[in-house]
Amino acid sequence: MSSLLTGKEVAQDIYAKLEVPEGATLAILSQNAQPDDLAYARNIAKAAEKVGIKVIQTEDAEEALAMPAVIVLGDHQGLELAPRQDIDGWNDYFAPCTAEAALRILDFYGYELRGKKVTVVGRSMVVGKPAAMLALAKDATVTICHSKTLNLPAECRAADVVIAAIGRAQMLGREYFREHQKDQVVIDVGINVKADGSLVGDVATGEVADQVAAITPVPGGVGAVTTAILMEHVVRACTLAV
Ligand code: NAP
Repeated sequence: MSSLLTGKEVAQDIYAKLEVPEGATLAILSQNAQPDDLAYARNIAKAAEKVGIKVIQTEDAEEALAMPAVIVLGDHQGLELAPRQDIDGWNDYFAPCTAEAALRILDFYGYELRGKKVTVVGRSMVVGKPAAMLALAKDATVTICHSKTLNLPAECRAADVVIAAIGRAQMLGREYFREHQKDQVVIDVGINVKADGSLVGDVATGEVADQVAAITPVPGGVGAVTTAILMEHVVRACTLAV
C-alpha cells in the first residue's frame, strides 16, 4: 500500500502557526452570488471565526474595499482590489489557495522538489498553471499537460510527482503510473461528485494504491488544506495592512 498524504495534519500545522493580528477582518463581498457561492462563503466564515478573524459579509463593494482582506463572490465587474487585499487571487502577494495547498502537502510530508520531474495535469488559471509555477519556483522540472496532450500516460509515468487537476472522476488509472518502481508521489486535486453523491478525485486511487509511493485522499487531501491556506492569506493581508 502507498502512504496516504492526508490533509488534516497539514491544515492543523498551518492553523497552529497562525498569528492572527488584533482586529483582523475579512470581507466577503457577494454580489448576485449563486447558492454554491453562498455555501462557500459560509464555510470560509466558519473557519475564519474559529481562528479569531472577524468576518463581514456584505453586498456593498465600498465597504469591502475598506477591509484589509477581501474575497469576492459572484459578479464583481469594475471592482479594483489591491493585490495585497486579494487573498484568493494570483498576484505578487498570493498564489491561488488550492495550488498552494497542493505544494504545501508535499512540503509538509518532506518531499523536496529540487531537480525532480513534476507533471501537472490541467492548465487552469486557478489550479494547474499556478501549481506548475509553484513547483518551478521550487526548482522542479515541470511538464504541464492538458486535454490536447498526445501521450498523457507516458508524461505521467515519466514524473516523480504527478499533480492531477483535471475534473474527471478517477481518470488516472494504472497505465498512468510506473508499474514496478513504486516511487511516484501523487497529489490529487480533483473533486468529482459521482452519481451516488460520493466524492472522488481524478485518480483511481484504489486501482493504483499498490503502485505509487504516496497519494492524497479525496476527500481529506488537498481540499482539507485549501481553507487553511486561505486563512493564512487573510492573516498575511491583515498583517501587511497594520
Ligand atoms: P478546469 O478549469 O475545468 O480545468 C481542467 C483542466 O484539465 C484543463 O486544463 C483541461 O485541459 C484538463 N483536462 C480536461 N480533460 C482532460 C483530459 N482528458 N486529459 C488531460 N487533461 C484534461 O478545472 P479546475 O478549476 O482547474 O479544477 C480541476 C479539478 O480540481 C476539479 O475536479 C475541481 O473540482 C478541483 N478543485 C479542487 C479544489 C480543492 O480545494 N481541492 C479547488 C478547486 C478545484 P484544457 O485546458 O485543454 O481544456
